[in-house]
Amino acid sequence: MTPKATEFAPAPARPAEPAHSADPAVIVVDNIRHRYDGRMALDGVSFQVRSAELFGLLGPNGSGKTTLFRILSTLMLPSEGRAMILGRDAAKDPNGLRRQIGVVFQAQSVDVKLSAFENLRHQGHLYGLSGAPLRARIQEMLGRVGLADRANERVETFSGGMQRRVELAKGLLHHPSVLLLDEPTTGLDPGARRDLWQYLRILRDEEHVTVIVTTHLMEEAERCDRLAILNQGKVVALGTPAELKHEIGGDVILLEADDPESLAQRIRARFPVEAAVLAGKVRIELENGHRFITDVVEAFPGEIQSVSVSKPTLEDVFIHRTGHRFWTEANGEAAAAKKKH
Ligand code: ADP
Repeated sequence: MTPKATEFAPAPARPAEPAHSADPAVIVVDNIRHRYDGRMALDGVSFQVRSAELFGLLGPNGSGKTTLFRILSTLMLPSEGRAMILGRDAAKDPNGLRRQIGVVFQAQSVDVKLSAFENLRHQGHLYGLSGAPLRARIQEMLGRVGLADRANERVETFSGGMQRRVELAKGLLHHPSVLLLDEPTTGLDPGARRDLWQYLRILRDEEHVTVIVTTHLMEEAERCDRLAILNQGKVVALGTPAELKHEIGGDVILLEADDPESLAQRIRARFPVEAAVLAGKVRIELENGHRFITDVVEAFPGEIQSVSVSKPTLEDVFIHRTGHRFWTEANGEAAAAKKKH
């Protein structure tokens, strides 16, 4: 059945096993540092990505995601350190590497005055593809991204989500086994975002493509097999979303009070817990948080205006590792919130 223009095809099948830790690394990022005019944008970043892994680079604005993305996609040389992809050094063999990786940039690269088919044909020519094999591959890719029935329409008539899918088809036309995507869902509505992530899973599961995706959205990071969380150019956490959240152990309690600083201080004096003030609320990480609630409310009668107990999120992992919230005034909370909606 031909998929509708709003869907990817076919439905994803989950892999029996996630990438095994003994698998050789497909991407090795080794102690990369990068300075722009004296400003340290990446400060000793190291991690490895295994075959057919969906790997996320999560970080707030200014954390270094784009800089790292540019280094991995061979557009920039790091000041120090090394990025190896499929055994090739991104700095020493950029041309060889470009043939083996697919890159989807945040900025639009398709020509909207051309049809989807024409855009892909140009891309194919750049990679030395032509004739019947190229036509077949274009049809295959447009089918994969759910645009087979729109092949000959100009890209300017497509929705944002559909345009992004043409970008994806472009990035994948030459059969790369590694795909790099920089904030691929920026500007997409929730449905189109879901579609895109579904397609990334299909790529991983059915074509065993290794995918690195940068994002500043927690809910997207949750969908990755593993992630590196960046803050001010450093990896502050590395692991599966479940592992990272598990490390906090227990619950996160938030208390609202008129004077949170004073309350936090008195809680610390009275109970064996770490109570900190974050964004105007007292925040405590604790096993069996619900039991502590009764004790704390009774200990400070009338002072606590609201209580919440929740399982840790990736934002809590970030706070745990850095001592501050993911979005702050400094890294553009307002801008990020706007981008999100
Ligand atoms: P992110 O993609 O996570 O927002 P970037 O890699 O764009 O982060 O930026 C990391 C740091 O490097 C920030 O402090 C940013 O201001 C700085 N930076 C990025 N690009 C340049 C540049 N071309 N010149 C100088 N500083 C830059």
